[in-house]
Amino acid sequence: MSTLFDKINSGADLDRQDLIDILKLTDQDDLERLFNAAYKVKLKYIGKRVSLRGIVEISNKCIKDCFYCGIRRGNINVERFELNKKQIVEGLLTAFNFNYGSAVMQGGERNDEKFVVMIEEVLREVKERTDGRLGITLSLGEQDESVYRRWFESGAHRYLLRIEASNPELYGMLHPADHTYERRMECLHSLQHVGFQTGTGVLIGVPGQSIEDLANDLMFFKKFDIDMIGMGPYLVHPDTPLAKKFPDFEEKRKDQLNLGLKMIAAARLLLKDINLASTTALQALDPVGRELGLLAGGNVIMPNVTATEYRPGYQLYTGKPGLDENSEQSRIALEKTIRQTGETIIYNEWGDSPHYFRRSGKR
Ligand code: SF4
Repeated sequence: MSTLFDKINSGADLDRQDLIDILKLTDQDDLERLFNAAYKVKLKYIGKRVSLRGIVEISNKCIKDCFYCGIRRGNINVERFELNKKQIVEGLLTAFNFNYGSAVMQGGERNDEKFVVMIEEVLREVKERTDGRLGITLSLGEQDESVYRRWFESGAHRYLLRIEASNPELYGMLHPADHTYERRMECLHSLQHVGFQTGTGVLIGVPGQSIEDLANDLMFFKKFDIDMIGMGPYLVHPDTPLAKKFPDFEEKRKDQLNLGLKMIAAARLLLKDINLASTTALQALDPVGRELGLLAGGNVIMPNVTATEYRPGYQLYTGKPGLDENSEQSRIALEKTIRQTGETIIYNEWGDSPHYFRRSGKR
């Protein structure tokens, strides 16, 4: 074990076997050492800083049918909602008025022209009303490169499209046959080609996944030269094919938290200067899960700024926290717990990843 930690502490590049060894750690002292080492790397490359991105969940209507997702097209138990343009703009401006500096528009996948145009209009209006000061990330699924370009030219500059599983076989188990791995990869390439700061991520601890798969996911992030990661532990939604196929999975919840934290730590140690989100899925497993994620190397938190009345409709998994809080309550509670970790919240900045500037040579 000391050899692994010697290598980690020396700052040497980690290889696939090191990542496997990290992901297999179970001893509490070893985990503490791991998280502390990852936190030190974060301090060196990012600083003692946390960026906030206000999330607006714009709609739970989706044309896709991913086997693990609570808002999949085939789930007839979900009451569907869709915010109109004015409501989305208001949500984004809430993030701006909270001085977050940056916001995310997230929603089920749609690619009809009416939707594409609506997003363009929202982007242009928010850019105008904030004098270009609010950074906007999109997470709206697979689109043609021409659509990505239109949204980029309308003012979005970061895009999150999770690969979910970099192993094509596992990807195939998690999705219907017409959701192809090749298309997902093509979209990720398009995003980089258009000029987006590109983020991706995976489901952590999903049935059928091995530790080796997760190590390969981390190597995939490195090879793809991504700028940011949004990944979280797999959490079960009962109205999904995956939940029905693995009915006993809930018992693994405790392991899921540690596995999620180990992935964050391993990603920070491997990729050093990227933006790394500490996601709400961690908070679903532990009330201070997101703060633990920060102390394991994460540097981004995405508070929900969606109007409270729409939050129950957007549940990719059950047990999602904060459904009945309003944005103001969430903001006060979150900012307090972040400060308790000793981290400084960065206000009024876009919070771009240092990696992006290094990759693109823009600084
Ligand atoms: S994971 Fe995304 S694309 Fe898949 S069904 Fe859910 S919202 Fe739609």
